[in-house]
Amino acid sequence: MNERPRGRLAPSPTGVLHLGNARSFLLAWLDVRSRGGELLLRIEDLDGPRVRAGAEAEALEDLRWLGLDWDGAPVRQSERAREYTNALQQLAAAGLAYPCTCTRRDVELAASAPHAGEEGPIYPGTCFGRWSDAAEAEAATGRAPCWRFCVPAPGTPEATVAFEDRLRGRVACDAGAELGDFVIHKRDGQAAYQLAVVVDDAAQAVSEVVRGDDLLPSTARQLLLFRALGLQAPRYAHLPLVVGEDGRRLAKRHGDTSLRSLREQGVRPEAVVGWLAAVSGLQPLATPARPADLVKDFSLSQVPPSAVVWRGSLAH
Ligand code: GLU
Ligand code: ZN
Repeated sequence: MNERPRGRLAPSPTGVLHLGNARSFLLAWLDVRSRGGELLLRIEDLDGPRVRAGAEAEALEDLRWLGLDWDGAPVRQSERAREYTNALQQLAAAGLAYPCTCTRRDVELAASAPHAGEEGPIYPGTCFGRWSDAAEAEAATGRAPCWRFCVPAPGTPEATVAFEDRLRGRVACDAGAELGDFVIHKRDGQAAYQLAVVVDDAAQAVSEVVRGDDLLPSTARQLLLFRALGLQAPRYAHLPLVVGEDGRRLAKRHGDTSLRSLREQGVRPEAVVGWLAAVSGLQPLATPARPADLVKDFSLSQVPPSAVVWRGSLAH
């Protein structure tokens, strides 16, 4: 690949940025900057009820405070509804998406093997072939439908999704068995994250995605959508999360690790970046650093494939 790599930072303005987000953003930034590439900023503000006023401005401020920059104006997903609707129509016309009027409870009751995890139960396909279009679904049930993507049947060659993760190597799954038909457009009329991110990564010609491995289950879904829409998928690198000493994903119980609160305590951005660089294998000690200091000789392959543990301080 001789073209300039192109990456993106994709914050969701739903909460505050913490050390885990900062690590993903720093490494995504270094990955393209070290190769003279471009970095876009995309605000993933489609999660209506969870979007918090002011969070976008704060996220940009936090990123700048860390010493990260980006090319061009930020793109907001809330301003791109037309592109997502076009993609939905393309999938529906190809028979690859269908309206679903099930409630959350319907799905739980119908699923034969409820999944305990965050992912929820696998949707059993109840509405597949049930409605000829969204209007009919709504007239019959009085509910606006969501739209689901038809995942290929388990065990078929089309259900196999495989990719080469830059940190983990080959990742493969049988999407038919593991995912179930997932939501690509929500009842409230907004695109779901999975569809929006695929449409945007393709429209912006993103070639490199570096993100937390909490999104690994999303990658198979996104690859199915790239394929169904005839779009080029980027390369992926999924970073192990930052966890507390109890091994659990960084959360309130581990203390306030938001960049905002560190800053208010008088912590310098160089201390945060120095710590992130040390736990990411880029320097031996948590010596203060600016992102720009780390560009030279950076390689994503230096990053160990194990979780980063937050021990309550920026020493390392
Ligand atoms: N907006 C997502 C998040 O903050 C990131 C999505 C992505 O990198 O694909 O978790
Ligand atoms: Zn349904």
